[in-house]
Amino acid sequence: MARYVYDFTEGGRDMAALLGGKGSNLAEMTRLGLPVPPGFTLTTEACRAFLDTGGEPPGMWEEISEHLTAVESAAGRLLGQPDDPLLLSVRSGARFSMPGMMETILDIGLNDESVLGLAKVSGSKRFAWDSYRRLVQMFGRTVMGVDGDLFERAIAAHKAQRGTRDDHDLDAAELAVLTEEFKAIIRRETGEDFPQDPAEQLRRAVLAVFESWNGERARLYRRREHIPDDLGTAVNVQRMVFGNLGPDSGSGVAFTRDPATGRPGLYGDYLPDAQGEDVVSGIRNTVPLTELERLDPLSYRRLLDHMGTLERHYRDLCDIEFTIERGTLWMLQTRVGKRTAEAAFVLAAALADEGVVTPDEGLARVSGEGLAQLMFPRFDTSATGDPLARGVPASPGAAVGAVVFDSAEAVRRAAAGEKVVLVRQETTPDDLPGMIAAQAVLTSRGGKTSHAAVVARGMGKVCVCGAEELAVDTGRRRFTTRDGTVVEEGTVLSVDGTAGAVYPGSVPLVDSAVMRFLEAGAGDHATTGVVDAVARALTRADSVRQLEVRANADTPEDAARARRFGAQGIGLCRTEHMFLGERRRLVEEMVLAGTDVQRDRALAALLPLQREDFTGILEAMDGLPVTIRLLDPPLHEFLPDRTELAVRIAAAEARGERPDAHDVELLTAVNRMHEENPMLGLRGVRLGLVVPGLVAMQVRAIGEAVAQRLLAGGAPRAEIMVPLVGDVRELRIVRAEVQRVLAEVSETSGVPVTCPVGTMIELPRAALTAGRIAGEAEFFSFGTNDLTQTTWGFSRDDVEAEFFSAYLDKGVFPVSPFETLDRDGVGRLVRLAVAEGRAARPDLKIGVCGEHGGDPDSVHFFHTAGLDYVSCSPFRVPVARLEAGRAAL
Ligand code: PEP
Ligand code: MG
Repeated sequence: MARYVYDFTEGGRDMAALLGGKGSNLAEMTRLGLPVPPGFTLTTEACRAFLDTGGEPPGMWEEISEHLTAVESAAGRLLGQPDDPLLLSVRSGARFSMPGMMETILDIGLNDESVLGLAKVSGSKRFAWDSYRRLVQMFGRTVMGVDGDLFERAIAAHKAQRGTRDDHDLDAAELAVLTEEFKAIIRRETGEDFPQDPAEQLRRAVLAVFESWNGERARLYRRREHIPDDLGTAVNVQRMVFGNLGPDSGSGVAFTRDPATGRPGLYGDYLPDAQGEDVVSGIRNTVPLTELERLDPLSYRRLLDHMGTLERHYRDLCDIEFTIERGTLWMLQTRVGKRTAEAAFVLAAALADEGVVTPDEGLARVSGEGLAQLMFPRFDTSATGDPLARGVPASPGAAVGAVVFDSAEAVRRAAAGEKVVLVRQETTPDDLPGMIAAQAVLTSRGGKTSHAAVVARGMGKVCVCGAEELAVDTGRRRFTTRDGTVVEEGTVLSVDGTAGAVYPGSVPLVDSAVMRFLEAGAGDHATTGVVDAVARALTRADSVRQLEVRANADTPEDAARARRFGAQGIGLCRTEHMFLGERRRLVEEMVLAGTDVQRDRALAALLPLQREDFTGILEAMDGLPVTIRLLDPPLHEFLPDRTELAVRIAAAEARGERPDAHDVELLTAVNRMHEENPMLGLRGVRLGLVVPGLVAMQVRAIGEAVAQRLLAGGAPRAEIMVPLVGDVRELRIVRAEVQRVLAEVSETSGVPVTCPVGTMIELPRAALTAGRIAGEAEFFSFGTNDLTQTTWGFSRDDVEAEFFSAYLDKGVFPVSPFETLDRDGVGRLVRLAVAEGRAARPDLKIGVCGEHGGDPDSVHFFHTAGLDYVSCSPFRVPVARLEAGRAAL
């Protein structure tokens, strides 16, 4: 039979899954010989058994009784003993910290009789009655389900009668009356009496804490923090010690170092004559911990000693809760302390310097997400009010600007030197110039992989998307918030892409020193503090990682920045991004051409433009690989809008005019090309096989750019990548064309030009036939955006806004599979393709260039799957370097 209860002397910190964070650390402190009030822990297994069956697990109560007896004999008194009661606290403690989300019940063991005993032995009637009324109140609310406000109102009435606002001013007699009132409330509300039997109090308190695992608050918190719902909480039952027994008692919290900056020093708060709950709740003002040195020098010195012991033992920053009961110090909790991203980096470097941790352990303690936070400027929101709206935090950072409602206006104002925030219902590729011009993008629709989000992240631009409470009225150039506030064009807003919030006016910014350092390029730095710590973590990561890190970049500027950030090449140059703006017309002509002459004219116009693009990028990445992907345009992003054209024609007809001949011609062509689901339509290699001359034009542009760079003395390393391949025959045809054109270029330029040819693996069929495809491919690059879309059958453009929040709520997945790779499904295809691809071609180079390439959890997966590199947007390159290093530890 399972064992459900462990004494503090039996556990240890390696048992957190079973005993929870609090319980395992209490056991660890007990083992270290620190003064921990005795107690025991009910396991998470007991909780799960209770929640599964709805009943108390068989044998659990007997085990509790045994452990209780041990605590009683150590204390020399019994739970609730009338003349000198042993009192217990019952506290939750899950595997992962869920601060304040579950229940706690203190002072178990008090009843109408033992309260008198406690008054006598403690020498304080007030203390005894205050403890009893706390128990009745907590028990009534938590265990018996009485509305907590009823108790609060009763307290308020007494305080009003007394003419005070402080609980402390109520005396023993008033507290005794209050306790009777509380009991009456319970009776009235539940039809039941507050239980006088201490054992029954304990039993019901334990079950209530188990139940609080499924409370609404706890569930919500878990969802936000991605904590699984099926872990359950442990429960710690511990002898009460009291910080509210007079001026020689008190409670406090302490950190062994500054959790905000990681710097050494003693940080914490102390509250004389108070219980721990009073310190945390902030009802009364605390004093700095250093005050304790004056108030109680002996306890202060002991506390410092214990903190030193804990930090050395845990080899990390610890936070601590303690209570002093009449001059005796008790340790009530410790854990490795939460810290800011800055503190994490500084501390890791400091502990490595002190020889407390190895450099690799230091690296394990920082994270890519932390680094990403440090790269963005931040708002100082300490003095701001409520946000105007909230949305999805799609691309982190802080930006301030005047609201504009279309791309052209953004460009116009930015050109005049104004900072702007582009607000749209959603963005399309047409908005790109405006997005580039804007400081931030705010949309009322779409999720983390909506166009706005992906593009903004790629540009390192702040973005909040899916702010559904905003009604955006582009026509009238304004939006309305849920409370009816109307925001006109030109109004200044502050957009917090890290928190997903929008504030009115200009919230002050704090600059990122880390970004300035990274922007300056790795290597040359004389730095201090957090920047130095980041630099050291990155250097360590680079020395241990097995994954290379490349960037997704389409312009020489992005390529150069990526290189400064440490990219080892370009893993994805999306050529369709080069066809936006002015050039879109040429793509339109090429795709819609009715005759060969028209098409050849468009292709001929595109060739020199493309050549120039590639030359610039190859120059910026000289000596490093540059994977150029042949055109993959989802046609709806490139062709004129069908409805708009039809409306224009109909309007002209309604006016009795002849519609524009070009419009009519276009509409016919657009109708011919129209797709219901363009993401699964004439994209990628399919377009290359259907539009004569397209592949040849692009390959010629690449080949000529390579030749040009070679002639200029450079070391260009272009790789040609074919998108959306599902069958090896598609690749074979394109590959033959590539080789033909490159041979031609070599011939005409007089320089031998060769480029490896590879393919994206972004369709399940490609993954499933990877062995055959590898026969024609020198490299694979997983397009996990499309592979996720096609494996799940989720449209990347639509689902996030439509139903992902319901899926997240219901726990179908803890995080969007477009954000973090779905290891079980998509990941399985990746592993299969890696194995079969390498079996067919042992020297096959394999990377990934979907959004997942910059996601920490996914980077760890790609490491274990044996990929050669990940490729991500330039701004994620440092994050990917760090995580690739951590994955290799
Ligand atoms: C992908 O599908 O993962 C990919 C990188 O290509 P795109 O996002 O351009 O379709
Ligand atoms: Mg793709």
